[in-house]
Amino acid sequence: VGAQQEREVTLQEWQSKWETGKIGFHKERGHPLLQKYLDVLLNGRSGLRIFFPLCGKAVEMKWLADMGHTVVGVEVSEQALKEFFAEHSLPYCEEPVPEIAGAKKLQSTSGNIVLYCCSIYDLSSSIVGRFDGVWDRGALVAVNPRDRQRYVSLMITLMEKSSSYLLVTVSYDPNKHKGPPFYVPESEIKSLFG
Ligand code: SAH
Repeated sequence: VGAQQEREVTLQEWQSKWETGKIGFHKERGHPLLQKYLDVLLNGRSGLRIFFPLCGKAVEMKWLADMGHTVVGVEVSEQALKEFFAEHSLPYCEEPVPEIAGAKKLQSTSGNIVLYCCSIYDLSSSIVGRFDGVWDRGALVAVNPRDRQRYVSLMITLMEKSSSYLLVTVSYDPNKHKGPPFYVPESEIKSLFG
């Protein structure tokens, strides 16, 4: 854990990963763990608002929208968001976000997929509202180690009381790989979320 504590990946570095196609994290066919734990996320509820922090072009956003839920994502790479809409042949419109300088909101014409192009730290519940469910894959583990508490504290403010949060982490020896994805031990997850 100590080995990664000082690691920092800048927003610019993330954007250039997208520009140069270094997106090995993207899962073309979606994540099997979402399928496996879908019932835990939904808990018998329909018409939910589901949040995808650091969404990339995750195909699971399309899955959940097709099931009748509203999906909200945030991603710093505009290219990623445009590829998402293009790859699913979804028409969308684009508008500025008055509360956040330089941010854009890309919304499917059908209205049920809303993707913010900005840093997650620019968001607040007054801008995006609160969510009934969160799919956190490649998000907590992609956040710079020193920003973890800030990230989790923000996520907590974006959740409804009854919301469910699915978190995917990876387990490996942090002395052998520099990440991302970073290694976040279970004990740290417990202390971060309280
Ligand atoms: N969750 C996605 C992508 C994981 S990779 C998936 O499962 O495929 C992490 C993504 O977060 C990258 O696309 C990167 O561009 C984006 N990102 C990194 N830091 C960010 C930040 N502070 N705010 C918004 N997006 C960020």
